[in-house]
Amino acid sequence: MDQDCFDVAVIGAGMAGLICAQQLTQAGYRVVVLEKSRGLGGRMATRRLQETWADHGVRYLELNPKSELYPLVPALLQREMIVPWATPLYTWAADGLKPMPESYPRYAAPLGISAIAKFLGQGLEVRLNQRVIGLHLSEIAMYPEASWQIISESSAPVSATALVIAIPAPQALDLCEPLAAKGLAPEFVRALQDATYAPCLSAIAGYPPEFQTEIDQLPWQAITALDDPILDWVGIDSSKRTQLAQPTVVLQSTAAFAHSCLESASLEAAGQAMLNQAEQNLLPRLAAPSWLQVHRWRYAFPLHPYPAEFLQAPIEQLLICCGDWCGGSGVAAALKSGLAAGDRLNSQFHSRSLPSFELIIDQLNAL
Ligand SMILES: Cc1cc2nc3c(=O)[nH]c(=O)nc-3n(C[C@H](O)[C@H](O)[C@H](O)COP(=O)(O)OP(=O)(O)OC[C@H]3O[C@@H](n4cnc5c(N)ncnc54)[C@H](O)[C@@H]3O)c2cc1C
Repeated sequence: MDQDCFDVAVIGAGMAGLICAQQLTQAGYRVVVLEKSRGLGGRMATRRLQETWADHGVRYLELNPKSELYPLVPALLQREMIVPWATPLYTWAADGLKPMPESYPRYAAPLGISAIAKFLGQGLEVRLNQRVIGLHLSEIAMYPEASWQIISESSAPVSATALVIAIPAPQALDLCEPLAAKGLAPEFVRALQDATYAPCLSAIAGYPPEFQTEIDQLPWQAITALDDPILDWVGIDSSKRTQLAQPTVVLQSTAAFAHSCLESASLEAAGQAMLNQAEQNLLPRLAAPSWLQVHRWRYAFPLHPYPAEFLQAPIEQLLICCGDWCGGSGVAAALKSGLAAGDRLNSQFHSRSLPSFELIIDQLNAL
């Protein structure tokens, strides 16, 4: 078989795409993952900064100990990739700060939360910097078994028998809409249109070493804002690091605030407004950082999730969409959706014996 002809192509190396690809690869399928950015993880994101790094997407890992996904936690603890963090978490509302009742243990990754995605991506064929811009139902006689040709911005097309699209629904819609002319059912396109997302801005701010004195006086490492018009979350990101790190704070905005400045050419003013709001209410001197970076998450949190763990196109060729917008929101939903998509694909392809999540993690831990 040609090196660019695969059993399965997965678009997107977020948590959903990685676990789906890992499950199918471990079952013996030849899988390629195409990812538009420079690294793995998607919204499980860590940004490298001058003297440190910061998690500007997912804040921490939290899994129900009774869930099938829980084996990830002991595996990561064993490798010292995660540590307990922000216990308790605080809420902030008009009546002040309050410790939240604890739910499940909460973990941070000292080397950055994207390390968890790298753990899940071990051994996979992942092609980075490959933004997929087009999908064709393949008519190439050379590859009679390949149904799909996947066109990316920066390299030759990839062919695959089955396709998994593991990206937010609005981005999946951009890729799938042109297929409507080739018989893709309107219900499928409508399901993608209905699964809308809320945006979020993440402001990452770094401070001089003396700022640590302010931080040390805080009772909290992270707070969730309950009814603020601007802020949704403030976390002392440097408190996740086990080695001394430059004081760094990550603030995340409400969806309403993000909407109000989503199209601004520069987000500097928006980030400063977030810092001002936090300084007034939570932490003195926060509004004068040494540096400030702001990241725009256009598709941060699903607003109207699709009511099932995956969405399959009603066509002869295998096309399955998955991601956090299928069945819920958050990392756990993304992982469950990726596993369910892999399971469905396998049942309609070679029907191999698929490894359970626990077995997948055991295999990765043994590497
Ligand atoms: C600020 C913020 C904070 C959050 N905090 C938490 C938290 O504390 N706990 C929690 O459980 N969840 C949290 N979430 C939600 C969590 O990040 C997501 O639910 C989860 O990571 C989604 O994973 P996914 O694989 O479905 O999608 P994504 O992580 O979005 O992965 C999709 C991948 O596809 C790639 N891609 C997109 N289009 C293309 C294309 N055309 N070609 C190739 N590649 C493409 C993207 O670059 C990305 O890597 C947070 C999200 C944000 C934005």
